[in-house]
Order: sequence, then C-alpha cells, then structure tokens
Amino acid sequence: CLSTKKVVMFLLCSHLSLQIQFADQKQEFNKRPSKIGRRSLSRSISQSSTDSYSSAASYTDSSDDETSPRDKQQKNSKGNGDFCIKNIKQADFGRREIEIAEQEMPALMALRKRAQGEKPLAGAKVVGCTHITAQTAVLMETLSALGAQCRWAACNIYSTQNEVAAALAEGGFSVFAWKGESEDDFWWCIDRCVNVEGWQPNMILDDGGDLTHWIYKKYPNMFKKIKGIVEESVTGVHRLYQLSKAGKLCVPAMNVNDSVTKQKFDNLYCCRESILDGLKRTTDVMFGGKQVVVCGYGEVGKGCCAALKAMGSIVYVTEIDPICALQACMDGFRLVKLNEVIRQVDIVITCTGNKNVVVRENLDRMKNSCIVCNMGHSNTEIDVASLRTPELTWERVRSQVDHVIWPDGKRIVLLAEGRLLNLSCSTVPTFVLSITATTQALALIELYNAPEGRYKQDVYLLPKKMDEYVASLHLPTFDAHLTELSDEQAKYLGLNKNGPFKPNYYRYVWKQQLWVWTINAKLGIYVQLYTYVFNNY
Ligand code: NAD
Repeated sequence: CLSTKKVVMFLLCSHLSLQIQFADQKQEFNKRPSKIGRRSLSRSISQSSTDSYSSAASYTDSSDDETSPRDKQQKNSKGNGDFCIKNIKQADFGRREIEIAEQEMPALMALRKRAQGEKPLAGAKVVGCTHITAQTAVLMETLSALGAQCRWAACNIYSTQNEVAAALAEGGFSVFAWKGESEDDFWWCIDRCVNVEGWQPNMILDDGGDLTHWIYKKYPNMFKKIKGIVEESVTGVHRLYQLSKAGKLCVPAMNVNDSVTKQKFDNLYCCRESILDGLKRTTDVMFGGKQVVVCGYGEVGKGCCAALKAMGSIVYVTEIDPICALQACMDGFRLVKLNEVIRQVDIVITCTGNKNVVVRENLDRMKNSCIVCNMGHSNTEIDVASLRTPELTWERVRSQVDHVIWPDGKRIVLLAEGRLLNLSCSTVPTFVLSITATTQALALIELYNAPEGRYKQDVYLLPKKMDEYVASLHLPTFDAHLTELSDEQAKYLGLNKNGPFKPNYYRYVWKQQLWVWTINAKLGIYVQLYTYVFNNY
C-alpha cells in the first residue's frame, strides 16, 4: 500500500498548476440527510438506484437468447470464466461503446495517464455495485490502471448494457450483470461478487446501498478488512447516515452524492439537456410555442425551464417554497397554481421529489394530447395508479409511451409510466457521468490511502479540494484558462493560492444565498444589499 505522501504526490497535479493535497481538513457529513435524501427514504428493488443514474438506456437490447446467463457456461478468449453476463460474443461492440465514452470522460483518462508512474490503488480490491454502462466501464478500467482489482454487479436490474458487460468480461473483469435480471438474479450477482474463494474486498463502491446492505447482512466479518465505502446515491447515503446515527457504521464512508460538482451537473446541467432529449425521443414533439408547466423550481426544475424557454416554449412554474418561487419570477417564468393552467398546457413536467403533485383531478382536466412526464426521483409525483380504472383505456404506442384514453376520446400521453423521464427514455450526457466517476475514483483513492485515524466510522463529504480538483480536470475540454491568485490577492482574501477557494457551506447559488440572507435579516440592510447586487449584475 502506498504511503499517503505518494498518493498526494500522485495527485499533485501539474495540471493547471493546481496543487491538490487531500483532506487535511475533515468534512464530516453535516449531520443531516441531504435535502433530496429526506424525500427518498423508501426504496424497492424495482427502483434500484433511480436516484442516481447513468446513461441507463442501452441502444442494444438483450439478444433473443432466452437462456438465463446463470445457466450458461461462458469463457473469454483467455479462458477465464469468472463472470456471468448475457453474451460474451458482444464484446467487440461493447468495446466500441467504451471507446466512445472515453472521449467524453477526460478526467478519468487524465488520471490514467498520471497513473503510469504511481499506482495509488495498488492492493485495493474494489467490489462495486453500480449501473453497468460504458461510462462505468471507463471508471472500472481507470481503477484497474490505478492498481485496483475489481469485481462488479449491477445496481439496477434494467440498466446494464449487455455489450459493455461483455467487453469488461473479455478484458478480464469479474462482472455479474445483465439487462433484465430478476430480483433473485440481482442478489445472486451481488453475492457472486463478494462470496469468492481467495479474494476479499477491502473497498466498496456502491450506488443505492444494496451491496453494503448485503455485506452487513451476510458477511459482517468482511468489514474487518474493508477500509471504506464510497456511496453515490441519495438513498444509499441516507442509509449510511442512518447506520452512523445508530452507531452501526463500522468503516468510514464517503458521500459522493453531495459533492458540489456532482449535484450541479446531475441536477441542473444534466436535466437542462436531457429533458429535451427524453421528450423528443418519445414524442417527436416540437417545443416552440408550446405551453409547458414545470412543477418544482429546484435544481432540476431550473434546468428543465431553462431548456424549454430557450426552445421557445411558454413556461409556467408551480412552487411551494417562496424563495424558489421568487427565483422563478425573477428568471421570467409565470408562477401559477397547477389548476390555473392545467386545461391549457401541452406538457406537464414534475420535478419536486414530492408525491401526488399531479393527481387524477388534474389528469381529468388536461386537454387532448397533453404530454405528462416526471423528472423527479421516483414514480410517486404523478398519481399513475389513479389512471388504472376500468373506464380508461391504456394503449402502448411506443416503448415507454402510453396513451391513456378517456371515454369521450380524449387522450393524454404518459411517458415512462411516471418514472424518471431521462433515465427511462434517453441517455444522460457522458460528461456528467465523468464528473461523478472521477469523484468516485478520487474518493476511493482518498479512503484507501488515508492514514489511520483520519476518517472515523462516520459519513464524510468529500474535501472541498477534491471537488475543485474534479472540476479542474474537466476544464481543458473547454480550452478554459483558469486565473491564478497572486500572492497579494491570496493574502487579501485569506486564501491558500491552491484552494480551497470557498468555504464548505458555499453552495454556488448566488441569488438563493442572498435571499437566505434577506430572510434572516433583522435589519433592512441585507435587503438593500440584495437590491444593490441584483441591480448591479
Ligand atoms: P430541489 O429540492 O432543489 O427542488 C425541488 C423543488 O420542488 C423545491 O424547490 C420544492 O420547494 C419544490 N416542491 C416540492 N413539493 C412541491 C409541490 N407539491 N409543488 C410544487 N413544487 C414543489 O430538488 P432537485 O435537485 O431539483 O431534485 C428534484 C427531484 O429530481 C428529486 O427527486 C431528485 O432526486 C430528482 N433528480 C432527478 C434527476 C434527473 O436526472 N432526472 C437528477 C437529479 C435529481
């Protein structure tokens, strides 16, 4: 195992002249579930990790072969059979998918280059449970280049790209996953990853907490050798937080979900792009001039609204929170109650993370051909169950597209049965996944190499420097030139020239922060400050 110094040296990047030294300051998980996490407590296998995602929609469907992969004996070209996937013959195709993903994952590729000298994960035995897609493959191959051995299962029964799993198996990875696993297959695959003779994991990379849960339940002794858990999803983080609160967390865990870069890219920028993609692929709708109501003006709602506005749609917003409501107004959207516009809108999009935001009464009043979809965490936002009544007819017109028809002939277009539109019907931009994957890789490096005592049995946020480092690794893609602080400026601001550049509580939303100040202010001076700043920008 490398010394911390070596790891720090590895990460001391010549890149952009930033010097990254990890985690001298502990950033303990801030003793509360994330804002989204509070709303995402329940979870079932069928929605495994719908709160985190990848470009889950595979362009290739599983082959016609109905034989369960569990009943097949397959070997790769080197005679290795320690995997269970749909069809090893799809490996070449999967390799091309991985190569395409590599083009949009510059940070991982940069880490690999740097790893040629140092192997910060030498000796690491990583067991992973994430979506198995081309982007995950780039991550796994990066971890391997950094010195780790990996065994992997899927965190979602539908999201595995079979051809990618084949390419990984061909490349020597022990992958246990295929698209369309049963619930029993799901746990069997996880078990095959951990329950193996002569190999015991010492790091966990989880997405949703199922793998962690399985090890806790079946192989608690394994935790004696495990150095840490890296968790990506809202739900998984919440589970870890519960374990920590109950004093049952026996290793340190990194909450990747709440890192700033991930939050911003996943929620705002990703949704800004994928809302249009999901709607287009399913309905071929033209956006110009269409009336759209977006429920919820948080990060996801802001992304959706911005994209639709840019396409010429007339956008209405519903909100419960006066701060976000005011932001919507300031951004030029009409704030309405849903029932005020429900008769006239062409598209309804929910992104609140709440339940029953669109109910049967609203659905009854929609106009003919209204498109209804959800971008929030789970399928609770639209009361789809209320549409399963005898007088309504359901017609599946395309994959993930249902027409629900009323007795008078009116029909609404329901997408993905109310599940996350972009997850179900489009792909998530690889660049977004690159940010998450890079953060995961760095979190693994940090936890694996941290000296005894740096991290206790608790849930930690990533050190701010890591967040900044992840962002910096993605800047060259844009040929972006970062300004460096002069010594004088650094002294003036009281900052280290190499970061971190912001305090931990800084959330990179300037308007909202200013409004929080105004709300808290006992003196009108803050209001004046807001007015001044707002008028001057
Ligand atoms: P957020 O908390 O920033 O925003 C949600 C907003 O909805 C809040 O402003 C809240 O006040 C508002 N809201 C709650 N109930 C409402 C109601 N009944 N009517 C109107 N507004 C209401 O959260 P976010 O980051 O925008 O995420 C929203 C949801 O999207 C979450 O469930 C999250 O897990 C999910 N998400 C989806 C994707 C994706 O790719 N589709 C990506 C990230 C997050």
